[in-house]
Amino acid sequence: MTPTGPLLVASDLDRTLIYSAAALHLDVPDAEAPRLLCVEVYQGKPLSYLTERAAALLPELAARSVLVPTTTRTREQYRRIQLPGPPAPFAICANGGHLLVDGRTDHDWHRAVLARLDDACAPLAEVRDHLRRTSDPAWLLKERTAEDLFAYLVVDRSLLPQTWIKDLAAWAEPLGWAVSVQGRKVYAVPRPLTKSAAVAEVARRTGARRTLAAGDSLLDADLLLAADAGWRPGHGELADTGWTAPHITALPEVGVGAGERILDEALRRVGA
Ligand SMILES: [Mg+2]
Repeated sequence: MTPTGPLLVASDLDRTLIYSAAALHLDVPDAEAPRLLCVEVYQGKPLSYLTERAAALLPELAARSVLVPTTTRTREQYRRIQLPGPPAPFAICANGGHLLVDGRTDHDWHRAVLARLDDACAPLAEVRDHLRRTSDPAWLLKERTAEDLFAYLVVDRSLLPQTWIKDLAAWAEPLGWAVSVQGRKVYAVPRPLTKSAAVAEVARRTGARRTLAAGDSLLDADLLLAADAGWRPGHGELADTGWTAPHITALPEVGVGAGERILDEALRRVGA
């Protein structure tokens, strides 16, 4: 039987499709830089961008696939983003902890996630205590929890000792937690809280025949591994650690140009 159903495209957002000014990596003369569209404003200031060309490709891709924004952001942080094109019918927030259907929280999904976490890993409070005890005010800028699911720190990377990250990851591993460093943020996330589980749920509901994925960080590895094909940019944790998989293309582009390239590649795959 030939598989039917739509193609699902699950893409990470930050440093995969959208980029802060610090992450743009525009290594061309200013006069040749691509025109940018701001898609997120935070506290009255522009925060995230994509190229104008990427902004034109995005609605095309959404018209030819089920395009699922798949992010570690909280729902509140996600809702600040105004991607070009129609609103996404499905969006994944909090690293899979929340599924938005037509913009609204799917509470059944969230309850199922919480039940899964209860048995599988140490509680958030224990991890948070450890973060508070071991972090140093010399480099700690903010300490936060997200959706009561995981914790993250905003740090001064230039002062943060690499050994602290290593020690944290080693401490967290037997507790069932993973550590990811992205820009100025250090995340501690329960291992069973995955983007891929939420994407599988969207695939089930939409009857998708294949899933394409894109992402740049260690928290995207499971998303990429579970997909039929996908891409990772030339920057980010996955690139820095030399992460590869046979069905994932490591793109050479870094910065905002990688976002455009991912959309080009995905459009080619969906047959546009
Ligand atoms: Mg990312």
